Amino acid sequence: MKKDILEKGAILQRDRETYAIAPHIPGGITDTATLRKICDVADRYGIKELKITSAQRIALMGVKEEDLDTIWADLGERPGAAIGLCVRSVKICPGTTWCKRGVQDSVALGLKIDAIYHAMELPNKMKMGVSGCMINCAETMLKDIGISGTPKGWRVYVGGNAGARPRIGDVLTDTGPGDDEVLEIVARVVDYYKSCGSEQRLGRIVEQMGIEAFRKAVMGE
Ligand code: SF4
Repeated sequence: MKKDILEKGAILQRDRETYAIAPHIPGGITDTATLRKICDVADRYGIKELKITSAQRIALMGVKEEDLDTIWADLGERPGAAIGLCVRSVKICPGTTWCKRGVQDSVALGLKIDAIYHAMELPNKMKMGVSGCMINCAETMLKDIGISGTPKGWRVYVGGNAGARPRIGDVLTDTGPGDDEVLEIVARVVDYYKSCGSEQRLGRIVEQMGIEAFRKAVMGE
Protein backbone atom coordinates (compact mmCIF):
# COMPACT_ATOMS: atom_id res chain seq x y z
CA MET A 1 0.00 0.00 0.00
CA LYS A 2 1.31 3.45 -0.89
CA LYS A 3 2.21 5.96 1.80
CA ASP A 4 3.84 9.39 2.14
CA ILE A 5 7.39 9.53 0.74
CA LEU A 6 9.18 11.75 3.25
CA GLU A 7 12.48 12.09 1.41
CA LYS A 8 10.62 13.36 -1.66
CA GLY A 9 8.30 15.67 0.29
CA ALA A 10 5.39 13.75 -1.23
CA ILE A 11 2.06 13.51 0.58
CA LEU A 12 -0.21 10.67 -0.49
CA GLN A 13 -3.61 11.97 -1.57
CA ARG A 14 -7.11 10.72 -0.93
CA ASP A 15 -7.08 8.66 -4.12
CA ARG A 16 -4.25 6.58 -2.51
CA GLU A 17 -2.42 6.84 -5.81
CA THR A 18 -1.12 10.36 -6.44
CA TYR A 19 0.82 12.81 -4.31
CA ALA A 20 0.89 16.48 -3.38
CA ILE A 21 4.19 18.31 -3.22
CA ALA A 22 4.75 21.82 -1.92
CA PRO A 23 7.75 23.84 -3.11
CA HIS A 24 9.25 26.00 -0.39
CA ILE A 25 8.22 29.66 -0.68
CA PRO A 26 9.77 31.45 2.32
CA GLY A 27 7.11 33.56 4.01
CA GLY A 28 4.80 32.99 1.04
CA ILE A 29 6.60 35.88 -0.62
CA THR A 30 7.20 35.22 -4.28
CA ASP A 31 7.46 36.86 -7.66
CA THR A 32 6.05 36.42 -11.12
CA ALA A 33 9.05 34.43 -12.39
CA THR A 34 8.66 31.86 -9.60
CA LEU A 35 4.92 31.62 -10.16
CA ARG A 36 5.51 31.13 -13.90
CA LYS A 37 8.07 28.41 -13.18
CA ILE A 38 5.60 26.56 -10.93
CA CYS A 39 2.84 26.92 -13.53
CA ASP A 40 5.15 25.77 -16.34
CA VAL A 41 6.12 22.67 -14.35
CA ALA A 42 2.47 21.98 -13.56
CA ASP A 43 1.54 22.24 -17.25
CA ARG A 44 4.46 20.04 -18.30
CA TYR A 45 3.36 17.22 -16.02
CA GLY A 46 -0.38 17.55 -16.54
CA ILE A 47 -1.04 18.86 -13.04
CA LYS A 48 -4.45 20.49 -13.18
CA GLU A 49 -4.86 21.74 -9.62
CA LEU A 50 -2.69 23.82 -7.32
CA LYS A 51 -3.62 24.74 -3.76
CA ILE A 52 -2.49 27.70 -1.68
CA THR A 53 -1.84 26.16 1.73
CA SER A 54 -2.14 27.46 5.27
CA ALA A 55 1.67 27.30 5.47
CA GLN A 56 2.01 29.93 2.72
CA ARG A 57 3.05 27.41 0.07
CA ILE A 58 1.60 26.49 -3.32
CA ALA A 59 0.97 22.76 -3.46
CA LEU A 60 0.89 20.85 -6.73
CA MET A 61 -1.86 18.25 -6.45
CA GLY A 62 -2.28 14.90 -8.16
CA VAL A 63 1.41 14.28 -8.92
CA LYS A 64 2.32 10.82 -10.24
CA GLU A 65 4.94 8.94 -8.23
CA GLU A 66 7.14 8.42 -11.29
CA ASP A 67 7.27 12.20 -11.90
CA LEU A 68 8.37 13.24 -8.39
CA ASP A 69 12.13 13.34 -8.98
CA THR A 70 11.98 15.17 -12.29
CA ILE A 71 9.43 17.68 -11.02
CA TRP A 72 11.70 18.64 -8.13
CA ALA A 73 14.61 18.85 -10.57
CA ASP A 74 12.58 21.03 -12.94
CA LEU A 75 11.59 23.27 -10.03
CA GLY A 76 15.29 23.51 -9.18
CA GLU A 77 14.58 22.71 -5.54
CA ARG A 78 15.20 20.12 -2.91
CA PRO A 79 11.97 18.50 -1.74
CA GLY A 80 10.08 20.88 0.55
CA ALA A 81 9.66 19.98 4.23
CA ALA A 82 5.88 19.92 4.27
CA ILE A 83 5.88 16.58 6.09
CA GLY A 84 8.12 14.73 8.51
CA LEU A 85 9.59 15.48 11.92
CA CYS A 86 11.18 18.82 11.23
CA VAL A 87 10.53 22.55 11.15
CA ARG A 88 7.69 22.46 8.65
CA SER A 89 6.96 26.11 8.19
CA VAL A 90 7.63 29.66 9.33
CA LYS A 91 4.51 31.71 8.73
CA ILE A 92 5.21 35.40 8.25
CA CYS A 93 2.78 38.32 8.17
CA PRO A 94 3.44 41.44 6.06
CA GLY A 95 4.68 43.45 9.10
CA THR A 96 6.23 46.87 8.64
CA THR A 97 7.20 45.95 5.07
CA TRP A 98 3.61 46.37 3.87
CA CYS A 99 1.07 46.53 6.72
CA LYS A 100 -0.02 49.91 8.09
CA ARG A 101 -0.53 48.37 11.55
CA GLY A 102 2.90 46.76 11.78
CA VAL A 103 5.23 47.85 14.55
CA GLN A 104 8.11 45.41 13.89
CA ASP A 105 9.70 43.98 10.75
CA SER A 106 8.27 40.46 10.76
CA VAL A 107 9.34 39.85 7.16
CA ALA A 108 13.03 40.45 7.86
CA LEU A 109 13.02 38.44 11.10
CA GLY A 110 10.81 35.69 9.70
CA LEU A 111 13.00 35.19 6.63
CA LYS A 112 16.10 34.95 8.86
CA ILE A 113 14.35 32.32 10.98
CA ASP A 114 13.20 30.46 7.88
CA ALA A 115 16.74 30.41 6.47
CA ILE A 116 18.10 28.93 9.69
CA TYR A 117 15.37 26.50 10.68
CA HIS A 118 13.22 25.43 7.74
CA ALA A 119 13.48 21.63 7.37
CA MET A 120 15.70 21.23 10.45
CA GLU A 121 15.09 17.75 11.86
CA LEU A 122 13.65 17.71 15.38
CA PRO A 123 12.02 15.18 17.74
CA ASN A 124 8.58 16.09 16.38
CA LYS A 125 7.12 18.50 13.88
CA MET A 126 7.47 22.19 14.64
CA LYS A 127 5.75 25.22 13.23
CA MET A 128 6.82 28.80 13.76
CA GLY A 129 5.16 32.13 13.13
CA VAL A 130 6.24 35.76 13.11
CA SER A 131 3.73 38.62 13.30
CA GLY A 132 4.53 42.30 13.02
CA CYS A 133 2.12 43.34 15.78
CA MET A 134 -0.06 41.86 18.51
CA ILE A 135 -2.97 41.32 16.12
CA ASN A 136 -1.06 38.14 15.26
CA CYS A 137 -2.09 37.50 11.67
CA ALA A 138 0.60 34.78 11.43
CA GLU A 139 -1.33 32.87 14.16
CA THR A 140 1.65 33.31 16.42
CA MET A 141 0.00 31.90 19.51
CA LEU A 142 -0.90 28.66 17.71
CA LYS A 143 2.70 27.94 16.74
CA ASP A 144 5.26 25.84 18.61
CA ILE A 145 7.41 28.97 18.61
CA GLY A 146 5.59 32.22 17.88
CA ILE A 147 6.91 35.76 17.80
CA SER A 148 4.84 38.93 17.81
CA GLY A 149 5.95 42.52 17.41
CA THR A 150 5.28 44.88 20.31
CA PRO A 151 5.90 48.64 20.40
CA LYS A 152 9.13 47.91 22.31
CA GLY A 153 10.38 44.80 20.52
CA TRP A 154 9.23 41.21 20.33
CA ARG A 155 7.15 38.82 22.45
CA VAL A 156 8.09 35.15 22.20
CA TYR A 157 5.47 32.44 22.76
CA VAL A 158 6.15 28.73 23.11
CA GLY A 159 4.02 25.62 22.98
CA GLY A 160 1.14 26.66 20.80
CA ASN A 161 -0.41 24.32 18.27
CA ALA A 162 -3.59 23.75 16.30
CA GLY A 163 -4.58 20.16 15.55
CA ALA A 164 -6.98 17.84 17.34
CA ARG A 165 -5.90 19.16 20.74
CA PRO A 166 -5.26 22.84 20.16
CA ARG A 167 -3.22 24.85 22.61
CA ILE A 168 -2.53 28.55 23.03
CA GLY A 169 1.18 29.19 23.49
CA ASP A 170 2.59 30.60 26.72
CA VAL A 171 4.56 33.83 26.87
CA LEU A 172 8.22 32.90 27.26
CA THR A 173 9.70 36.38 27.30
CA ASP A 174 9.78 39.87 25.79
CA THR A 175 12.83 41.26 24.03
CA GLY A 176 14.05 44.55 22.67
CA PRO A 177 13.55 45.61 19.03
CA GLY A 178 16.63 44.04 17.37
CA ASP A 179 16.67 40.61 15.75
CA ASP A 180 19.73 39.20 17.55
CA GLU A 181 18.14 38.80 20.98
CA VAL A 182 15.05 37.06 19.67
CA LEU A 183 17.13 34.81 17.39
CA GLU A 184 19.19 33.79 20.42
CA ILE A 185 16.02 32.89 22.32
CA VAL A 186 14.65 30.84 19.41
CA ALA A 187 17.99 29.01 19.26
CA ARG A 188 17.80 28.26 22.97
CA VAL A 189 14.28 26.85 22.67
CA VAL A 190 15.22 24.68 19.68
CA ASP A 191 18.42 23.45 21.40
CA TYR A 192 16.46 22.57 24.51
CA TYR A 193 13.85 20.73 22.45
CA LYS A 194 16.54 18.74 20.66
CA SER A 195 18.21 17.69 23.90
CA CYS A 196 15.32 17.23 26.34
CA GLY A 197 14.79 13.59 25.47
CA SER A 198 11.08 13.88 24.66
CA GLU A 199 9.49 13.11 21.31
CA GLN A 200 6.29 14.95 22.16
CA ARG A 201 5.30 18.16 20.48
CA LEU A 202 6.70 21.20 22.28
CA GLY A 203 3.32 22.25 23.71
CA ARG A 204 2.94 18.97 25.61
CA ILE A 205 6.38 19.48 27.15
CA VAL A 206 5.56 23.04 28.21
CA GLU A 207 2.24 21.81 29.58
CA GLN A 208 3.85 19.09 31.67
CA MET A 209 6.72 21.23 32.96
CA GLY A 210 4.74 24.43 33.45
CA ILE A 211 5.91 27.63 31.77
CA GLU A 212 7.95 28.80 34.77
CA ALA A 213 10.04 25.62 34.87
CA PHE A 214 10.34 25.62 31.08
CA ARG A 215 11.49 29.25 31.13
CA LYS A 216 14.08 28.45 33.77
CA ALA A 217 15.35 25.45 31.80
CA VAL A 218 15.65 27.42 28.57
CA MET A 219 16.55 30.90 29.76
CA GLY A 220 18.25 30.10 33.05
CA GLU A 221 16.02 32.62 34.82
S1 SF4 B 1 -0.08 40.94 12.56
FE1 SF4 B 1 -0.16 43.15 12.58
S2 SF4 B 1 1.50 43.75 11.17
FE2 SF4 B 1 1.03 41.62 10.74
S3 SF4 B 1 -0.48 41.69 9.07
FE3 SF4 B 1 -1.59 41.55 11.01
S4 SF4 B 1 -2.09 43.64 11.53
FE4 SF4 B 1 -0.43 43.71 10.01
